[in-house]
Amino acid sequence: MNPIVIIGSGLAGFNTLKEFRKLDKETPVVVLTADDGRSYSKPMLSTGFTKQKSADELAMANAEQVAEQFNVTVRTHVHVAGIDTAKQRVLLPDDHLDYSALVLALGADTWTPPLEGDAVGEVFSVNDLIDYGRFRQALEGKKSVTILGGGLIGCEFANDLSNGGFQVSLVEPVGRCLPMLLPEPASAAVGRGLEELGVTFHFGPLAKAVHHRHGGPGERDMLVTELSDGSHIESDAVLSAIGLRPRIDLAKQAGLNTNRGILTDQTLRTSADKVYALGDCAEVGGHVLPYVLPLMASARALAKTLAGEVTPVSYGVMPVTIKTPACPVVVCPVPDEVEGEWRIEENGNDVTALFEDRDGKLRGYALTGEAIKEKMKLNKELPALMP
Ligand SMILES: Cc1cc2nc3c(=O)[nH]c(=O)nc-3n(C[C@H](O)[C@H](O)[C@H](O)COP(=O)(O)OP(=O)(O)OC[C@H]3O[C@@H](n4cnc5c(N)ncnc54)[C@H](O)[C@@H]3O)c2cc1C
Repeated sequence: MNPIVIIGSGLAGFNTLKEFRKLDKETPVVVLTADDGRSYSKPMLSTGFTKQKSADELAMANAEQVAEQFNVTVRTHVHVAGIDTAKQRVLLPDDHLDYSALVLALGADTWTPPLEGDAVGEVFSVNDLIDYGRFRQALEGKKSVTILGGGLIGCEFANDLSNGGFQVSLVEPVGRCLPMLLPEPASAAVGRGLEELGVTFHFGPLAKAVHHRHGGPGERDMLVTELSDGSHIESDAVLSAIGLRPRIDLAKQAGLNTNRGILTDQTLRTSADKVYALGDCAEVGGHVLPYVLPLMASARALAKTLAGEVTPVSYGVMPVTIKTPACPVVVCPVPDEVEGEWRIEENGNDVTALFEDRDGKLRGYALTGEAIKEKMKLNKELPALMP
């Protein structure tokens, strides 16, 4: 019997494996991964400087340990080059592998803006454990970091690197923190919290270029980030946290339907027979939700389907906790199609922002500071995202 093949060893791939093994101990499973196959919790990457954890310390198990624990084959450093859905076959660089079912848990690519300058190659992004290890190593003995992007990842790293003793500058063209997730007063509260930690904001301009500045005798070499308003920031390192794009190319080349992500129905099934997708690469019933809660719900449902009981995933209320302890944030993002307005109460950095639709029903919220205590109560009032 051909194995179930899972491509990807992130939280989506490994949680599908874990949930499946609770139901079926024997069916052969092969995990293929472009990285080293270590099991880790990605959200921990933006708390590593606070907790002073190396990449090795954040890893929970290596590929061999995962293989043994779950009775599977894990093939590391394998980049899947294609999928032949008619033959139910995965194409590897010098080989192929036939599957009985295929799970795409491919994650998302980081997006770096089109920068100029002779130091562009030194701009970091941190989207997996290997990136984190390299970034940490590069910062050894260094003092300052410029972060490009003030979204979830940018703000979390701003808080974490400040806690780790670095001087942080953050560039955000939209002009406030977490602009895609929070209304203005909640953004302002997060901005004040981070400023109190020492973060310097450059709101408004775009980053245009990153150059080397070679220090004179007794001086450190620095990187200079040039902004579109003509100003410059000097720092030891630059971290890009501009955004993520679901990895859809492999699916697209194989003829699967894609949009923002790999399109699936509520049972995580793509447009090809026996091919499923979940996690950051997937657009499930119209939702692209690059967070842990949705992928855990998807992994549980998909495991049942793979074990023979076709099971749709339900998305209940999906709050996201943003790890900015300088000003804690919990947000339940408003679904794209919902129209309405924010009702906002603020008291210093404690902001309660409730998004109500045209019928006055709660459809999302953003809470900062002490107001995050309202989370449980509000979760009960919200409708499920995808019942
Ligand atoms: C710094 C940071 C902090 C975060 N914090 C939070 C948080 O607090 N709360 C929250 O809900 N979410 C958070 N997120 C988001 C969350 O971590 C992700 O949604 C989740 O980890 C995605 O898991 P995944 O398995 O879909 O993707 P990934 O972890 O990216 O895994 C993708 C896998 O696919 C493999 N792969 C891709 N293409 C190929 C190929 N062609 N061949 C072989 N293998 C391939 C890769 O090697 C990798 O193993 C955070 C993200 C980051 C970056």
